[in-house]
Amino acid sequence: MPAHRIVVGLLGGEVVETRASTPEGTFAAYRRLDGAVPGMIAWPNTVLLTGPEPVIIDPGYQTQGDMLDGALRRRGIAPGDVRTVVMTHLHSDHLSALPQLPGVTEVWVHRAELDTPHARRQRGILDDAPLVVVEGAQGEVRPGLTWFHAPGHSPGHVVVVAECDESRVMAVGDTLGPDPAWFRNTAPPDGLADRDEHLATWRMIRARAPATVVPGHYAPFAIAQEGTTEGGVESPPVRIRTRSTGGSPGHFT
Ligand SMILES: [Zn+2]
Repeated sequence: MPAHRIVVGLLGGEVVETRASTPEGTFAAYRRLDGAVPGMIAWPNTVLLTGPEPVIIDPGYQTQGDMLDGALRRRGIAPGDVRTVVMTHLHSDHLSALPQLPGVTEVWVHRAELDTPHARRQRGILDDAPLVVVEGAQGEVRPGLTWFHAPGHSPGHVVVVAECDESRVMAVGDTLGPDPAWFRNTAPPDGLADRDEHLATWRMIRARAPATVVPGHYAPFAIAQEGTTEGGVESPPVRIRTRSTGGSPGHFT
């Protein structure tokens, strides 16, 4: 399910709404709302992995709930059949649609994410969730589906790595920021909070040589091993299929 943004501002007692055809375009419009009191609703990409079992990365914002339900059903998956969710991090726009998946038995989250102010504000959802709390630098969810700790945007942020039949796909959450140019040019803006951690995470992403990167808030894109991007990948969401491989490393297509 693709990401999108809507900007709503208050300007001279009037409500003004701004949007562009892309999430990054709308983010740019947000930064240009001169004189207005701006606000923004941001829906992230929700990633569905299919194969031996469906896996959801970041269910999304609570207002995406019906869209998540409908998007799954359109692909022949009953929302109640999703057992496994992996959270890149616990900001509400990535987590709060979780109750739309009533059959979940595993919600993977990094321990460093749990004791944050933004996670504590999600206690109503997290208290009911069957958490699988992980620690350390990296680990495995399933064969062929791994994660590594990628702080910067938030303390316990992880990047999720799916080994596909022909390429490696990474769901990188919000580690890249809202503007594609930041990562493309390795140029996070001055004053970005935890700027050095962002850069360290970007180096880890590039070092693992993904073929496709799925950011949290704009379209998936291809990436060359030397670190230059090569155009966008059309029609998100990326649907990734798993093959049962009898215990050997799984492959996702
Ligand atoms: Zn976030």
